[in-house]
Amino acid sequence: MAQSRSFHDVARKVRRKLGQFLGQRQIGDVWPSGVVSFSFDDFPKTAFTMGGAILERHGARGTYYTASKLKGTASDLGPLFETEDLRAAHRNGHEIACHTHSHLRCSQADKNTLVSEVRANAAGISAIIEGFVPANFAYPFGAASPTARHVLKRHYASCRGIQPGINMKIPDTAELYAYSVYAGTFDELRMRELIDRNKAVGGWLIFYTHDVTPEPSPYGCTPEQWDAVVAHAAKTSPILTVRDVMAALNA
Ligand SMILES: [Zn+2]
Repeated sequence: MAQSRSFHDVARKVRRKLGQFLGQRQIGDVWPSGVVSFSFDDFPKTAFTMGGAILERHGARGTYYTASKLKGTASDLGPLFETEDLRAAHRNGHEIACHTHSHLRCSQADKNTLVSEVRANAAGISAIIEGFVPANFAYPFGAASPTARHVLKRHYASCRGIQPGINMKIPDTAELYAYSVYAGTFDELRMRELIDRNKAVGGWLIFYTHDVTPEPSPYGCTPEQWDAVVAHAAKTSPILTVRDVMAALNA
């Protein structure tokens, strides 16, 4: 484990150097006061009806990591998205992005399986929003592996994990750091401190949750909690979708 961590630290450094060589812009140069993104995994309906509405009230938009095979199903997150939710989120300016098609755990999948999941999800999403090509990805369960990083990096502008951290300078787009907003561990002061620290260091802070509802699952939060984090971020730094951050970084 220690060995694989240090390998990734080296890999991150190499990518950063390569990024500088390729003329990618650094986060702190584009946003001296940092930038914040809000994302939802699995796209439960309430992520749009509640979570998306809160973002919109603050003039912001979110990123929805969608597994198209889960359309119209339900889970412990409540009912998941249906065709019209996906279209409405897209129409309102939110970003539709990708999980794997079937919510497959990438860490145990081989290359062919990963590629067929990528293709199936692209087809599933473009069948709902005609001609739309999703650009960014999040690992289901946050489960990455060297193979998954290598394969998925070729298909997406960025891949988001669940390792906590602030993305700095030229970020490691094979596995972006992110923080959960979960009801059971929610600490408003800590969230504010994270947003303030991100501003101080000129970083890119990404939050994620699942359902947003008064009685959330262990993987979701309440509308009040979500609103508190979004409100503090809106006062502190620009809020952009992952797509818009990646575009501005020229990555
Ligand atoms: Zn998921």
